[in-house]
Amino acid sequence: PPEPTDNLRTDPGAIKLASIDYGHIIKEKPFAVLYPSSVDDIRTLIYLSYNSLFSYTIAAKGQVHSTWGQAQANDGVVVQMNSLNRFRNGTGILISGDRSLGFYADVGGEQMWIDVLNATLTRGLSPVSWTDYLYPTVGGTLSNAGISGHTYQKGPQITNVLELDVLTGKGEFVTCSPQKDSELFYAVLGGLGQFGIITRARIVLGPAKKRVKWLRILYSDFSSFSTDQETLISTTGPSDKVMPDFLEGHLLMNQSPLDFYPQSQRRKITFLVNQYGILYIIEVVTYYDNKNEAKKVKQMLKSLKGFLPGFVFEKDVTYLQFLNRVHDQEIELRKKGLWDIPHPWLNIFIPKSRITDFDNGVFRNILLKRNFTSSTVLVYPLLRSKWDERMSAVIAAEEEVFYFVGFLDASADNWEAFDNKNKDILQFCVNAGIKFKQYLGHHATKEEWIIHFGSKWNTFQQRKTRFDPRMILSPGQRIFNY
Ligand code: FAD
Repeated sequence: PPEPTDNLRTDPGAIKLASIDYGHIIKEKPFAVLYPSSVDDIRTLIYLSYNSLFSYTIAAKGQVHSTWGQAQANDGVVVQMNSLNRFRNGTGILISGDRSLGFYADVGGEQMWIDVLNATLTRGLSPVSWTDYLYPTVGGTLSNAGISGHTYQKGPQITNVLELDVLTGKGEFVTCSPQKDSELFYAVLGGLGQFGIITRARIVLGPAKKRVKWLRILYSDFSSFSTDQETLISTTGPSDKVMPDFLEGHLLMNQSPLDFYPQSQRRKITFLVNQYGILYIIEVVTYYDNKNEAKKVKQMLKSLKGFLPGFVFEKDVTYLQFLNRVHDQEIELRKKGLWDIPHPWLNIFIPKSRITDFDNGVFRNILLKRNFTSSTVLVYPLLRSKWDERMSAVIAAEEEVFYFVGFLDASADNWEAFDNKNKDILQFCVNAGIKFKQYLGHHATKEEWIIHFGSKWNTFQQRKTRFDPRMILSPGQRIFNY
């Protein structure tokens, strides 16, 4: 058997750092933290637990952007994944491939997407599917799905992976792909850390454009907003139809920031917000290299019907500036001490057929009526056909178009009020018979997880028995560990 590593720390500083996350709500203490100097250190840790009479739980800790303790391990061992990077000797991100067969990057599971972007841009390349924020790790987002305005077209990040190196819950090191050990490959993608620790992912790359036309289009009514969003992502339409490279949407309410908009327009926008209560904003982007391509954006607007005339705002930024936009907000929030505070987030998928009911029941009747107008709320459509059923990730039922809705609250002094509001949102969905699914969610009981996974539960459980039979990995998800 392998020798135990001496990179384990049990000092209060290390324990404290491993007991918190971006949510700042759940705080569970591990008994030790592993700072691995090699993949083999992690393998040994798992192997020893799997083969011991008294196994201990193990959580890979990426950048802990989880909001509900998912990367914590109560009384277990947390693996500080980014420690690996110090020993990679520059091999954490390796770019290969060619023009005819395509390019890809072999990336350590501990790498942050921002570093992947910066490395690939030096070769004029870029991953094709993103999250809004680039500081999570590759292993962290691939354990969920990794979604954004690119997903409707490119699929979530989990469908843009060619191969993985995984350490299973038995301490086995397996290279898996759709061709080899495919069961493990599909299990791990969207697998909430339950089947193995990702130590390398082979990520699909495409050519990177240099610049970005970035538009926000304002709507006063939900139906026009969602109809236009669906028109934009639809592949049918005139032959010269331009699809956006990125499409999202969000709510603008009376406490929403207006910094995207020209100073001269802010009063008018505030007037409209006061008049309608909520403005619905479509956010679309086209990537371009030259002036001709930049004109595509005007073409795109032609297919839209219901926006407020004159209320289309445009920015022109670099590709990197656009993709890294949330980091600018992070810097501002950190300055104000508003980053490391509780984040009682709720993210859900809603079938298209019920999204108007959701607007009435939640945006109007809960958010507006109860004055939750400081919330950041994202709303955008996704396509079922861009997901891979064989992967562990769970999306909303049956329909081809479904919506992602994210309630991204932060509250220094009263997170419970936001959490209660979120519980009411979920209860509204249950009462209205809306077949929603949570994304990045947490569930209080195993029964709730079984409902969450629905028809995928049996497979999920069988895969757990096969790849992590002693239920060692990612206990903070509370699916098999309580
Ligand atoms: P952690 O929080 O450290 O871990 C998450 C889970 O994955 C844990 O269960 C952990 O044990 C497991 N895990 C971590 N590393 C590995 C590994 N190498 N192998 C196996 N399991 C592992 N998500 C989106 O999809 N789209 C967005 O647009 C988006 N925007 C965000 C914006 C902000 C500001 C924040 C804070 C989060 C956002 N997220 C978004 C959520 C984010 O993608 C997830 O929380 C992701 O899990 C964070 O990655 P991490 O490295 O911080 O993971």
